[in-house]
Formats: sequence, C-alpha cells, structure tokens
Amino acid sequence: MSIGPLSEHAIALIHDLCSRDDAITCAFSGAEDIVVLDLIHRSNLRVPVFAVDTGRLHAATHAYIQQAQQHYNLDLTWVTPDPSAVTAFERHNGRFSFYEDGHQACCSLRKTEPLRKHLAHFDGWLTGLRRDQNPNREALPELQVDPIFLGLRGPLKKANPLANWSRLEVEAYIRHHSLPLNPLVHQGYKSIGCEPCTRALQPHEHERAGRWWWETNTNKECGLHEQPVQIIGGLKNET
Ligand code: SF4
Repeated sequence: MSIGPLSEHAIALIHDLCSRDDAITCAFSGAEDIVVLDLIHRSNLRVPVFAVDTGRLHAATHAYIQQAQQHYNLDLTWVTPDPSAVTAFERHNGRFSFYEDGHQACCSLRKTEPLRKHLAHFDGWLTGLRRDQNPNREALPELQVDPIFLGLRGPLKKANPLANWSRLEVEAYIRHHSLPLNPLVHQGYKSIGCEPCTRALQPHEHERAGRWWWETNTNKECGLHEQPVQIIGGLKNET
C-alpha cells in the first residue's frame, strides 16, 4: 500500500477516536512518531501532546521536541518523574543501575509511573507504535484497550494509527512531507530512547537493536506497551 491510502486510513482512525466526547492525548517520543503529529495536524484537530522527559534524554531530543512544538504549535506537556523518588532511587542504586539489574526498575520510575499519572486524566491516547518495530508488537492492533494503564473513567483507549505502516513507509512519508527529523537519525540512531540506553545502529541491524543494547533478549520494551491485546470493535479500524 502506498502512503496515500495509508495516511487517509490513519487520519480516519484519528478522526473517529477524537470525534467522540472523550479526552484524548498524543504521545511524542521525539522520533519518527512525528508522523502522528503531522496526521493530527492534517486532520485539523487540536490534540494535547505529551513527551516523557525521563531526565536522561539526549539534548538533541529535547531540542527536536521543541522544534516540533514550534512547527505544529503544539499544546505540549512534559511528563516528568517524581524528583524525590528519583533522588531516593539513585541514593540506593546509583545512576547506572540499569546496566546491571535489567532496566525495568529505572524505566518504571522514570517512564511508567509518571505516564500512569498523566494518562489518568484522559480517556484515550495516540501512539506511533508499529507492528514491525519489535517481535513483541507483531499483534499490535490499531485500536485497543490499554493493557497497562487506566483512564479518567476506567478503561483507557489506545490508538496506534501507524500499526500497519512499515519503517520504509514512515520514512517515505517523512521525506514526502519534508518533516523535521531528530538529528540523531543522521548519526545512525533509529529507535531513540534515553541517552545511556540507546546506541547508533550498525548497517542491517534491526531498529530496536540499539535500545538496551547490552541485553540479549528480544523483548526491547520499557513496560509502557506490553501485551496482551484487547481490541476495541465498532470503530473503523480495519485496513
Ligand atoms: S531507558 Fe534507561 S535511563 Fe531511560 S528510564 Fe529506562 S533504564 Fe532509565
């Protein structure tokens, strides 16, 4: 499928989600999920956007998110961890415990818990997740009940309008519409997370190989997007 029908389908999904009397927000990681921001912009919708500032992002990612904020005139919230919890954690574990104890404790403190609090104010959220990013995402639907977080009024909707897109289709869309890019992409980064936990890729490496690169397992997740999947019916979510 070319990016024309793909983007039309994604815009219809976004419209369908946002046209209800629900509070919807959109995640922006500072990477190629800028495509979702562009689709929202083309939908003539005003959706609040958030970025999780773990305190360990690259300076380039901070600057890029600000660039995107200005480019789209975003209503942007930085979601941050509890500073006292970070101080207590680092007092006992140091600043680089994730290299030795798995990354879940740090990711939970800096990402999952702040996001849990933020999403509790909404009924649904939009992400830039794709099935081809990770074997753990192969069954990712376009619309689901969030398996991790609760929303304002109970179950939280999670829409993944790029679920069916390939990496090449995302890159083609970015090129076609001349979207701003995180400069780290030009240094060999594809999936971009925290600075100490992300490295540039070697040619032909999978895009998630640079995340938690010292680990050997294939489940390169931080706990925000675990399955199982419960699909929401009734919306126009089939390709
Ligand atoms: S990606 Fe690394 S630094 Fe960032 S929250 Fe997870 S473990 Fe901590």
